Amino acid sequence: MTSTGGPRIELPTGQKMPILGLGTWKSKPGQVKNAVMAAIDSGYRHIDGAFAYQNEHEVGDAIQTKINEGKIIREDIFYTSKLWNTHHHPDYVEKACRSALDVTQLEYFDLYLLHWPFAFKSGDVFWPVGDDGKVIFDDIDYVDTWKAMETLVDKGLCKAIGLANFPIDFMKRILSINRVPVSNLQVEAHPYLPQLELVDFCKKKGITVTAFSPLGSPDRPVQTKDDPVLMEDPVVKAIAESKGKSPAQILIRFNLQRGLLCTPKSVTPSRIQSNYETLDFELTESELNQLLQINRNFRFVTFPASKPHPLYPFKG
Ligand code: NAP
Repeated sequence: MTSTGGPRIELPTGQKMPILGLGTWKSKPGQVKNAVMAAIDSGYRHIDGAFAYQNEHEVGDAIQTKINEGKIIREDIFYTSKLWNTHHHPDYVEKACRSALDVTQLEYFDLYLLHWPFAFKSGDVFWPVGDDGKVIFDDIDYVDTWKAMETLVDKGLCKAIGLANFPIDFMKRILSINRVPVSNLQVEAHPYLPQLELVDFCKKKGITVTAFSPLGSPDRPVQTKDDPVLMEDPVVKAIAESKGKSPAQILIRFNLQRGLLCTPKSVTPSRIQSNYETLDFELTESELNQLLQINRNFRFVTFPASKPHPLYPFKG
């Protein structure tokens, strides 16, 4: 067991972000505190959170508990949070960030991401819906939100900022005006959606990439019975069997070895531990190529409620 969080990737800010993090989406209050504490005990030093996960108070509690136990100091942890869709208006950005910091009992976020390019109705209602039951959108340019996020770095509330779920053409607009570097892009990535073009674009621009839903997000809220099951793919299973590893370990390693950061979610201590053990084995070139060949351009996380928004990023 290492207490260092394993290998790190340097961000444009000079911060060193551990390549493996614990995901916390769908981790329920009542479970997530134990999950984060188990992760820290296993060696994780990177935790991926968000206001939208509605559990940041417990994630923060877990970090604080481990600090109080003397297991870690604040600077050991790399904590990512995300600005929610109802807080895109430039007048809301700082308030939202300060309130999320309060909730997590942190003085700064290591990384703060713009969670989605589209905005929902500005305000304090997390999921604003109209009489028709549909979510109410707002017309706010993500470029204006980004500029407001840059001031969070000026004020020391975040060490770095970045984007999530942004396609290349949206990123280009940010990259034509940004004053603070885009340190990270967080997107879905796994063998069914390897994101070759997007990863290549980010590499050229010096933007690090974090792969989310690396296991195919089997607990995602929206799914149909015809969806493929990534951890049951025959190629993934065959490689796992031949190496004496689990399919989850093969899938996590696939991302890490491509130079991506990766944030598998689990609330199960034995899985949290075995997912961490992806830092100490390697896939061969041939195994990586076999995994690249099962690409289906299949996206597990599509956020259907936001599809009608003009800035919905997954068109076509
Ligand atoms: P995921 O990590 O692909 O899959 C999580 C699921 O896999 C859970 O059901 C978990 O079960 C199970 N699991 C974990 N380890 C396992 C193992 N070793 N063997 C078998 N099953 C295992 O899905 P995700 O939560 O969608 O993505 C990961 C993280 O990325 C999120 O939690 C979040 O932090 C981030 N994310 C960000 C965005 C964004 O818009 N920026 C979107 C999606 C995800 P148990 O928990 O029951 O163990």
